[in-house]
Amino acid sequence: MLWRGRRQSDNIEDERSDSGGGFGGGLGDSPGQFRVPIGGRAGGGSSIILVILVVLAGWYFGFDPSQILGDGGGQITDNSGAQDSTGAPASDEMKQFVATVLADTEDTWTGIFKANGLTYEDPKLVLFSSQIRSACGFASSAAGPFYCPGDHKVYLDMTFFQQLDQQFGASGEFARAYVVAHEVGHHVQNLTGIMSKFNQMRQGMSEAQANQMSVRVELQADCFAGVWAHYTAQKGILEQGDMESALNAAKQIGDDTLQKKMQGYVVPESFNHGTSAQRQTWLTRGYKSGKLSDCDTFNNPV
Ligand SMILES: [Zn+2]
Repeated sequence: MLWRGRRQSDNIEDERSDSGGGFGGGLGDSPGQFRVPIGGRAGGGSSIILVILVVLAGWYFGFDPSQILGDGGGQITDNSGAQDSTGAPASDEMKQFVATVLADTEDTWTGIFKANGLTYEDPKLVLFSSQIRSACGFASSAAGPFYCPGDHKVYLDMTFFQQLDQQFGASGEFARAYVVAHEVGHHVQNLTGIMSKFNQMRQGMSEAQANQMSVRVELQADCFAGVWAHYTAQKGILEQGDMESALNAAKQIGDDTLQKKMQGYVVPESFNHGTSAQRQTWLTRGYKSGKLSDCDTFNNPV
């Protein structure tokens, strides 16, 4: 992506220096989060393995979407995974990259909303390290990037990008841009009322049904990320291999691929983000047409 020299968003809240180790002990209380050994320097492989095991346990048992998308605003977590907790702030260049991608999503969604007679409200993007307090409760980096509907903020620990590259095999700048655009997609769902509708609909649903509904929410966020990529391509700033990089990321973080990798088998009822094939399909759909109407994952087979 030819991002250098382009506008950077002012909506970045850099809380990386404030968030190191101040919230220990509170993490276990947060729905959907799992306790991980945070704060200690990763002195060697064993602590990393421990973190991975804890996260793995989270995947094994899954988490109840009804808890995550709770009445208190809830949050959508993405791509649970471990990090090495070195606490080292990601490079400033990466922050600039995220700010540029965010700015581009602002421009794109402002235009799309305007064309539909609506006003887009920019989300904030909070950069944090290790752990953070949001309107959705305490969150640890291990839970991955997430969007909190309660405060309209995307939360990102940029060490996730290394993890994406090294553990999930999803390298490339545009894989990272896709992650940001997916979270912004949840913000769009929040602004358009899709998320509150989802929260209503899942009342009284079984866990399996709620998971199926969660998959539709997630696939739509992927499709919205594709819509953003469509307009970004029109600006002529995509480079060869960018979309392939995003599509590979969508593949690597598909529920089936992750479960196969982590536990050796898949439990389809526990899927809450969609399979690799589904994620790639919906990302591609949004990318090809650039139309929101092609992102209706609720009234179409997924
Ligand atoms: Zn998501």
